[in-house]
Amino acid sequence: MNRKKAIKISKPCLVRIRNSFRALIIQIVREQSYALSQLKSAYYDEEEIDHNKIQSIIDEQSSLRIALRDSICKCAACSDSKRDHVYNPNEKKWYCEECYEILKKSYTEVDKMPNWFP
Ligand SMILES: [Zn+2]
Repeated sequence: MNRKKAIKISKPCLVRIRNSFRALIIQIVREQSYALSQLKSAYYDEEEIDHNKIQSIIDEQSSLRIALRDSICKCAACSDSKRDHVYNPNEKKWYCEECYEILKKSYTEVDKMPNWFP
């Protein structure tokens, strides 16, 4: 996406469905990360530690964490997963509306970069 986009849902039943999907995705990522931690621990318990295997697990965990942080499931600033979110095309991240407005004001008034948060 190359432009600012806000996903606003007002119907309570749709909000519940959205939040349930977000919670499900967040839970799956946590479980996958936990499974990777278990695998990493098993590799550490081996007689000869394979640092390449461990590093690939660390990389995968990092990728999962970054993908979740940058997804619409969580606000990139406050980790909210219950409110409407706004996409910032410059950062390629989603923010809740409150954080977006705070950051937009900060980038406009303090950092003098009004186009960073369109
Ligand atoms: Zn936020």
